[in-house]
Amino acid sequence: MFVHDEAHTEMVLRYCHDRLSLDPVPLDFGGATTESLADALAGLIGPAGRDPAEVLDVFATRLAAAVVSCDSPRFLSFIPAAPTKASLLFDMVVSCSSLQGTSWLEAAGAVAAENQALEVLAGVVGLPEGAGGCFVSGGSIANLSALVVARDTAPSRGAAGGRPVRFAVSRESHSSVARALSIVGASPLLVDTDDHRLTGAGLEAALAHDQDPSDVVGVVATAGTTNAGIVDDLEGVADVAEARGLWFHVDAAYGGAALFARSARPRFAGVERADSVVIDPHKWLFAPFDCAGLLYRRPALAKAVHAQQAAYLEVIHEEDHPEIWNPSDYAIHLTRRARGLPLWFSLAVHGTDAYGEAVETVLETARGTAALVRRAPHVELVREPDLSVVLVRRPGWDPGDYHDWSVQLLAAQTAFVTPTTWEGDTVARLCFLHPHTTLEMVEEILDSMR
Ligand SMILES: *Cc1c(COP(=O)(O)O)cnc(C)c1O
Repeated sequence: MFVHDEAHTEMVLRYCHDRLSLDPVPLDFGGATTESLADALAGLIGPAGRDPAEVLDVFATRLAAAVVSCDSPRFLSFIPAAPTKASLLFDMVVSCSSLQGTSWLEAAGAVAAENQALEVLAGVVGLPEGAGGCFVSGGSIANLSALVVARDTAPSRGAAGGRPVRFAVSRESHSSVARALSIVGASPLLVDTDDHRLTGAGLEAALAHDQDPSDVVGVVATAGTTNAGIVDDLEGVADVAEARGLWFHVDAAYGGAALFARSARPRFAGVERADSVVIDPHKWLFAPFDCAGLLYRRPALAKAVHAQQAAYLEVIHEEDHPEIWNPSDYAIHLTRRARGLPLWFSLAVHGTDAYGEAVETVLETARGTAALVRRAPHVELVREPDLSVVLVRRPGWDPGDYHDWSVQLLAAQTAFVTPTTWEGDTVARLCFLHPHTTLEMVEEILDSMR
């Protein structure tokens, strides 16, 4: 039936070995078309099996080549990735061991290690003892899971008999927050920002001017906006949230990694007061996809909302004491991959100081880039970077020029940089998080904008 021979294992491990040995990882993306991909895949799956060597070759030469390598130091679009080799290797261990991390009953060893990694995250955030949560697939699911808890545990909601609720957000909140609100049946209270930052004063003003803010149950602050890397006024927002009894959610999916960097930590003052925090290790904490850390100040609230009940699940809830931790109880999921373990292994192997150094290196690259842009006559710095996103304006260019430049830059394998909009203008957006991205690479990019 499922015939396997040792040579197949060797062949796939050799592929993994070769991929891990690429230094630097090339950008790739050889201009595949829907036709060329359909051609590569045509007839590949049929009633009879094929030689694994043939299938792996299709993957390696036709499919993988049609994927831009987000772990290349020249990938500066969206949010890149830069997983450590230790974390990638351990991801293979997780796969080869069929490790899951659903419940303590089934997977105590995996869950304990994931919780050790979560404790490191809770530690840099500054959450009190007892904080905890789980790893989910991404910031989007983490935001949604946290907002469900905020909605269902809001004191005012109980009194109001389950009427619809609102959450205070800003225009800079991540797109997944709007989706999450829609899914939980909540509406946004849009708070005006001060230079794109959500502030305590802005939140207070929005609530004060609202006709009846009693249905506002929480606020979503962003610690590192995706578009520009801006950290909201977390302390000010925490003050208002505390005074008004709002759930304080901090979306640090991208920026939370900077908590490891001494130079950036002061920007995050107040994050330790959050009711829930999201940090994506698959973004700037050098872990492979997919891995987002979701932490609650009071996990018992989340458990009360998310734990799934069924006759066949009673056994995992039987013993109820703090050491018995079921990750399935803390988000919208049941069966789950032990996706925190690659991060756990890498943290243990490298130590947290190495993480601080790597994040500092990236922050220096962003500051160095800002300095280069300021000195270059043909481009303008849109704003000083808070973290590692640098926005660059090329006076005289229209959106079409940015688009063509971006396409050419990738075709030349110089870099993958895509445009964004800032205050109505199209600008180039460079997001750094690979410690091996150099200022020489940045100079090549800036030169290409002449
Ligand atoms: C990336 C990002 C998200 C979404 O995370 P995914 O892992 O892509 O689902 C949410 N919030 C912020 C601020 C982000 O940068």
